[in-house]
Amino acid sequence: MLRAVYPGSFDPVTYGHLDIIERSSKLVDELIIGVLNNKAKTPLFSAEERVRMLKEVTKGMPKLTIVPFDGLLVEFARRMEATMIVRGLRAITDFEYELQMSQTNHKLEPEIETVFLTTSLDYSYLSSTTVKEVAAFGGDISQFVPDFVADTIREKMNRRRV
Ligand code: ADP
Repeated sequence: MLRAVYPGSFDPVTYGHLDIIERSSKLVDELIIGVLNNKAKTPLFSAEERVRMLKEVTKGMPKLTIVPFDGLLVEFARRMEATMIVRGLRAITDFEYELQMSQTNHKLEPEIETVFLTTSLDYSYLSSTTVKEVAAFGGDISQFVPDFVADTIREKMNRRRV
């Protein structure tokens, strides 16, 4: 039984994340999406809102559990009894940080392996940050995120403007 954790901020979830979720869930028996509640960062959406969006846009996909977490990733993975961490690699800019994180995590917990999936070409440019920037200036984000997420972003931004 292979259980993996796919951690991230998902602020908000994009088609890039969904691509990694779909592809990695084919490789494992169970995929736990860990939604990072990082108190040092100020996300646009609360961890609860990010979990809700993920649940909505992954409805019907098998093998998935979506859980918020804070603290050390390897602790979370251990608690979930997962032996694999999944991360997505977009460009070379992701590489250095991801390499450092995966090696640190391996030192902390040698039983847990990090596995990288390279992004699909269609999404290699896509990040939550750019989606938020485009949305903030009223741009069309429909090709970057599912409709439910686009609507939730618009609502949040309209509320902030009031
Ligand atoms: P973090 O804040 O940890 O970078 P993100 O929510 O931005 O979390 O991303 C979570 C994971 O998804 C990371 O491994 C990231 O590289 C990957 N990811 C994000 N966007 C894409 C994309 N467009 N294609 C492939 N992987 C992606």
